[in-house]
Amino acid sequence: MALRVLVTGGAGFIGSALVRYLVLERGAEVLNVDKLTYAGNLSSLTAVADDPRYRFLRADICDASAMREAFETFRPDRVMHLAAESHVDRSITGAADFINTNVVGTFQLLEAARDYWSKLDGGAREAFRFLHVSTDEVYGSLGDTGLFHETTPYDPSSPYSASKAASDHLAKAWQRTYGLPVVVSNCSNNYGPYHFPEKLIPLTILNALHGRPLPVYGKGENIRDWLYVEDHARALDLIAASGQVGETYNVGGRNERRNIDVVTRICEILDRLVGGRRHADLIEFVTDRPGHDARYAIDATRLETELGWKAQETFETGIEKTVRWYIDNAWWWRPLSTRYAGERLGIIDGPA
Ligand code: NAD
Repeated sequence: MALRVLVTGGAGFIGSALVRYLVLERGAEVLNVDKLTYAGNLSSLTAVADDPRYRFLRADICDASAMREAFETFRPDRVMHLAAESHVDRSITGAADFINTNVVGTFQLLEAARDYWSKLDGGAREAFRFLHVSTDEVYGSLGDTGLFHETTPYDPSSPYSASKAASDHLAKAWQRTYGLPVVVSNCSNNYGPYHFPEKLIPLTILNALHGRPLPVYGKGENIRDWLYVEDHARALDLIAASGQVGETYNVGGRNERRNIDVVTRICEILDRLVGGRRHADLIEFVTDRPGHDARYAIDATRLETELGWKAQETFETGIEKTVRWYIDNAWWWRPLSTRYAGERLGIIDGPA
């Protein structure tokens, strides 16, 4: 019998990569539970839309009865919880949705999972897993040296990272208090195809393609540890399948880059692939984000040694693939510029 996975947030950037991976590479049956906020896009799931192993439920994870019904009717072997409000800048101007979805929604999902899991029989109950997907931003900011380990104390800076930290604590508490088989993953910044164009990399690619300014916060010296989204999807599957219950796994590609170097690299690739101008001339430094963490960098040793995971893409190969994907797939991003005209999206204006 095929593995049955309930994925929340499967219409988002990482969730859609995970759904494509689970259905097409792993042969799993997937129920994608997604509210379809501005960040949810069913076009990212075109590859699986007609596959009988894939189902979609439009629902809010804060809706307790809808979540209970989803568990009872789909009867998953595993939950992979990605639904979240995920954009730091939006959390600074309006934190309410972040508290509702990331904290209250995670609570409702944990309760629905606990209710369903507690009624399962021996083997199914033993095998059930709840993977809570989170971010390295919960650890706060690093100085020039050091890495985030699984034991690094939480020290979130933004409303987004604070809401994710709260949800991580809830997930762990549901394991310790009720025995729900929870595993937590904390990952560094992802990039790749189907990334909503308010985030740094797709924003830069699309603004550059349109000859628009490329906004970079401060002096562009903030460092992020970039991971190709398909490498993250494989890591999540591995952690859910073989991670130890009650434990945390850090996920990262050992690809630290300054923001300005990421933007410059994209410009160089575009100079080569589309030409027409020196794209780096479009870079504009803008006022820094309040509470902007200086550096994130992940130690993924545990995931590599315990579970045998290794990133397949380097930053160089992944960023080249990503730029090419945006050039070749205007069908995916062009409708967004019409749908969200007037909002502060990269392809319209404003920084990520
Ligand atoms: P995203 O914003 O692209 O997608 C989020 C998805 O969740 C969307 O499809 C949206 O419609 C859905 N959603 C939002 N609120 C919902 C609700 N109340 N009920 C049901 N669905 C809802 O996010 P992403 O970048 O794909 O991130 C996915 C997860 O991974 C998040 O939990 C995020 O914190 C975590 N994460 C992201 C990154 C990154 O670099 N993007 C890195 C580490 C961890």
